[in-house]
Amino acid sequence: MSRQALDEWKQQIPLMDYLQALDWRPARQLSRGRSIGLCPLHADHKPSFLVDPRKSLFYCYGCGRGGDVIRFAELYHEVQFPQALVLLRQWRGLAPLLHEVTSFYGMQLHRHAEAVAYLYQRGIRSPEVIQHMRIGYAPGGCLRAWLTDLGYPLQALRQAGLVTAAGYDTYRHRVVFPLEGNLYGRSLSAVAPPHRFLPGAKGGLYSWDQARLYPEVILVEGLFDYAALWQAGFHNVTCRWVPISMRASSANSATAREPSIWLLMQIRTAVVSRRLNRLSLGSPNTA
Ligand SMILES: [Zn+2]
Repeated sequence: MSRQALDEWKQQIPLMDYLQALDWRPARQLSRGRSIGLCPLHADHKPSFLVDPRKSLFYCYGCGRGGDVIRFAELYHEVQFPQALVLLRQWRGLAPLLHEVTSFYGMQLHRHAEAVAYLYQRGIRSPEVIQHMRIGYAPGGCLRAWLTDLGYPLQALRQAGLVTAAGYDTYRHRVVFPLEGNLYGRSLSAVAPPHRFLPGAKGGLYSWDQARLYPEVILVEGLFDYAALWQAGFHNVTCRWVPISMRASSANSATAREPSIWLLMQIRTAVVSRRLNRLSLGSPNTA
């Protein structure tokens, strides 16, 4: 690969996107868009890992290492340059795969009355909101075959977390919501763990690019609250999509990314939850 081709290729993989996919969160913002946080490359106790998203470069004041996204992948995965390229290429390939999965699960939703009944019971009743959120249903036992027919190697499906090590669909009897670079699955069954995600980042605010266009933003606890408000006509709404019950262990990463928003959310959530309870639009205390 020529120097120029490599530079162009690197531009398609912003360092910050890759770091966020690995669950890295800045501890604080610095000038010129740069941010600093704990170094993912060594046991770091005070933030020493500086990232410049505009230049797509990092430097760690603790371990003295720095470079571009490829250098980071080399150090993080402890591999040589060619393997680092392969890993980054695979990571970038996840987006089209998730798009395919979302379409497939979207088709399944209307073929499974139990899934539609579950959404109805949780307050999601309008076809518009189902379309807007691209809600789908994972019956289990059919995704792997579908994706294999499309030419995706089994290894890639395992790596993405869509298929288990034993070769079964990971999501089974779950209503699924596509997220940015992930997929949330809510179990219909009371015996399975209620919440499931693919490996990788699950931070950030849901549909934030749309909500941020409004002068006032309502932040709610979960995706079902979001859906209830959206179909009631409130489109200036967002939520953090990690359910409350899963959030305790990641409280620091939750506050790190959007501190002021998070604070606002605590206040707003209480107000909105009370309103939802009165309106019986959904049950905001269960994700
Ligand atoms: Zn370091």
